[in-house]
Amino acid sequence: MDNSVALITGANTGIGKEIARQLAAEGLTVYVGSRDAGRGRAAVEEIGGDARLLQLDVTDAASIAAAAREIAVLDILVNNAGISLEAKAPDQQDVDEFRRVYETNVFGVVAVTNAFLPALRRSAHPRIVNMSSSTGSLAVAAEQGSSAFAAYRSSKTALNMLTVLYANALAADGVLVNAVAPGLRRTGLNARAAEAGGDPAEGAAGAVRLALLPDDGPSGQFFSWDGTRVPW
Ligand code: NAP
Repeated sequence: MDNSVALITGANTGIGKEIARQLAAEGLTVYVGSRDAGRGRAAVEEIGGDARLLQLDVTDAASIAAAAREIAVLDILVNNAGISLEAKAPDQQDVDEFRRVYETNVFGVVAVTNAFLPALRRSAHPRIVNMSSSTGSLAVAAEQGSSAFAAYRSSKTALNMLTVLYANALAADGVLVNAVAPGLRRTGLNARAAEAGGDPAEGAAGAVRLALLPDDGPSGQFFSWDGTRVPW
């Protein structure tokens, strides 16, 4: 994978930083997306290898446009940046909270993906990995009868549909597009994640596997971190 170039959004901490670390260890040039330059620089130093800071707020059109101008050819885009907010049921969650979460987890992914598509199309082996969640699975939610984290979970369901639609739209360009559920990991995403025992590096490995798929690899699929399929 020498000379390959990857961009991970929200890579200054959590699972994103671990994805960046693992891809840099594979010898890739890794753009560490971070909306805050200071936090991004600290992560770049920690990651080592050919890691580079790319200041990028996925909710800011000017920031996205400026970032896209920095990369001519992009082999791997990992749409990892995400927010969760509180564990509310839909009847308890204000519509503005839905808007905030969707702005990052859904609209941010569309804006970033579309901005970097010209650079991805210049790659010989383009890959897009969307960081989803098994909590966004319609099948799992219907089976569990659960209602918490309404904004977050429905945003991931929308992301799953976008994964399929992008995979279909970009198939002729050879872009493999997949979603991954990293499992519950100890990060700052929300109170539940903060208390979790799961190692973020293990969840990151699932995204790295999809980022490094061979040309005949799957597209438009939803995988767990361990490579098994997650029901839609
Ligand atoms: P995290 O530690 O909170 O990291 C989230 C990252 O996203 C941070 O770098 C954050 O930057 C960045 N971010 C948020 N809003 C942004 C924006 N507008 N522009 C650019 N970056 C932004 O959470 P995490 O657990 O690693 O989450 C990473 C992904 O995994 C998310 O998509 C999440 O939904 C998914 N996931 C996590 C778990 C889990 O158990 N942890 C489970 C399933 C799915 P700042 O540091 O500047 O806030």
